[in-house]
This record gives sequence, structure tokens and C-alpha cells, in this order.
Amino acid sequence: MSAPALRDQFGRSIEYLRISVTDRCNFRCVYCMPAAGLPWLPKDDVLSYEEIAEVARQLAPLGLRRVRLTGGEPTIRRGLPSLVAMLRAVPEIEDIALSTNGVLLPTLAGPLRTAGLDRVNISADSLRPDRIAAIARRDLGFEPVRAARAAESAGLGPIKLNVVVVRGVNDDEIGEFARLTLDHPWHVRFIELMPVGELAETYGEDVLERVVPSVEVLARAGDALGGLEPARAHGPARGNGPASYWRGPGTRGTIGVITPMSHTYCDSCNRVRLTADGRLRTCLFGDHEVDLRGPLRAGEPLERHVRRALAEKPREHALLQLRTGGLRALSQVGG
Ligand code: SAM
Repeated sequence: MSAPALRDQFGRSIEYLRISVTDRCNFRCVYCMPAAGLPWLPKDDVLSYEEIAEVARQLAPLGLRRVRLTGGEPTIRRGLPSLVAMLRAVPEIEDIALSTNGVLLPTLAGPLRTAGLDRVNISADSLRPDRIAAIARRDLGFEPVRAARAAESAGLGPIKLNVVVVRGVNDDEIGEFARLTLDHPWHVRFIELMPVGELAETYGEDVLERVVPSVEVLARAGDALGGLEPARAHGPARGNGPASYWRGPGTRGTIGVITPMSHTYCDSCNRVRLTADGRLRTCLFGDHEVDLRGPLRAGEPLERHVRRALAEKPREHALLQLRTGGLRALSQVGG
């Protein structure tokens, strides 16, 4: 008889695991990481691909159905397609997605698709090369539209573009991003800036003024498209997460907003995170982590540890009360 499905103390079933494959990144986005980077994890502390796959194999019979590879920047870890292939071989896993800054997609999209990746979310905060380099503090020649096209022609889909909106930095591009949905069946999602990680250093006291609330984003996207109506995103476009979707007259894709600051969406939270060093984190914000690497390397079954972590999953995150500072960067917790 199979073990009972994973549920937390509030009855939310846990079927979605975000896996951070590295804490390192080739970007240094001003709202995420210091210019000099962060103290990286020692190599031995980072789970091997085989160990990550073993976590998935042990969680699958307990209800795990969807995984997302993230980081840091997952594509900079060598041999990522081999991890995708290992995860694809777990029969219960229905959906394998990747969150990436897109820099390496023109070369990696094909091999990742061949290995079994289903879809990608590409982070793209600007469509202008000089601005991309300024936000990322690196000029790596990233072209969001080229990256999305590469993913599309490799057969990855649906394509989602994630735009973190920062007032005074890229909010003047909301209309331009929204108009991409006229020509492409892509899902452009605007994310409210969250006051964690590097932000307080970069923007100082006025950090909350940099947040552009989703109602304002939608109004500006609506102006660019001649109106917006709620969209019913179907299938995997709907994703596993907290976005709400909209479309304009004649758009092929949709506009989404992700609103960690103006709404919490914890009631339907079906996700847990595996950090690059093998800790299971049950809430993005907060310090609820249980070590899985120790038991894994000792050859112990993980179920007991996972159930313990879930028993402590908080009802909701404390982001709004925390305001700024104090929390780990998203790159360190698999944002
Ligand atoms: N490197 C991958 C990528 O670029 O998608 C995955 C990791 S990255 C930390 C995940 C997402 O978190 C990116 O879209 C990034 O823009 C976003 N992010 C990082 N810090 C953030 C913050 N303070 N507020 C809102 N989003 C943030």
C-alpha cells in the first residue's frame, strides 16, 4: 500500500517542488545580489544531480507531481540536461519547468528539450540592451526576445517572461512588454518587487516606493493594449503559482501579475523548495528549513524528515510585516 500523500498541517497538499541547482549566478541584479556576489556554497555542500534525483524519486510516491529547476542561475551548472533526464525518468513527475535568466538558452534550449524539459520561465526586466546590462550589472549580450524564440523553436512551452517592475528603473517599459503578447503566444508576467536580499542596500530607505503595485501595472498594460479582460489560462500556462492572468483585444498571449506585496496567496500554496545545499524550505520567506542532505548521504529514507518539515510549514509568510532586510536573497533560496 502506498504512503499517504504529503499534506501540511493546514491540509494543503504538496505536489510542487522548486529545486535550486546552484546558488551561483552569472548576473548580479541590483535588487537581488551584491555586485561582488555572495559567499558561495562549498562544492561538497551542494547536492549532486544524482542526489537531487533521489529526493524527487522519494517524494514522487508521496504526491510530488511537478518540479521547477531554479537557482541562482541553473543553466550555469554544467550538464543540466543530464539532471532533466534523470527527473524525466521518474514516472509520477508530470511537469518539469526551468526558471532562467535566458542568457544561455540559445545554446541550451535544444539539449534541455531533448532531455525532457517541458517549459521555461525567462526573467527579463528590460528589452533595451544597455538597461539589461545596468540592472544585471553584467553585459552578457542577453536578448529576451531571442531567448524566448530559441525556447519556442526547441518546443518548450508555454513561454513565460517574468518582469520584476522597479519604479524609475523599468516601469516605462510595461507597455512595450505588454505589446509582445500581440505578436507572440507568450505570457508576460509582471512581478512586484520584494524587499529582500540586496534591495535595501541598493535603494536605501525609499525601497518600498520602488514597488509598483499590480493595479497600476495592469492599468498601464491595459492602456498599451486598448483594454484588458480576465483571461482563463489553460493547462500548464496556468502554472502552479500565484499569478492572475489578463488579455487585451487580439492578443495571442496573456498578461500576468504576481503580487507578493499587495496580496498574499498562501492559502493555495502547494510548493516547497529544495535549496542547493539540500535543505527543504517550506516557505520562501522565513527560516523553516529541514536538512535532507545529511539523511540522504547517510542512506536514510527521507519521508520522516519531509513530514517534519511540512508539519512546520507556516500558514502564511510574514513578508508584509518584515518590510525590508534580514532575509536571504532569492538566489540563495531558489526564488
Ligand atoms: N536565475 C533564474 C532567473 O533569473 O529566473 C532563477 C533565480 S532568480 C532569483 C528568480 C526570480 O527572482 C527572477 O525573476 C528574479 O528577477 C526574481 N527576484 C530576485 N530578487 C527579487 C526581488 N527582490 N523581488 C522580486 N523578484 C526578485
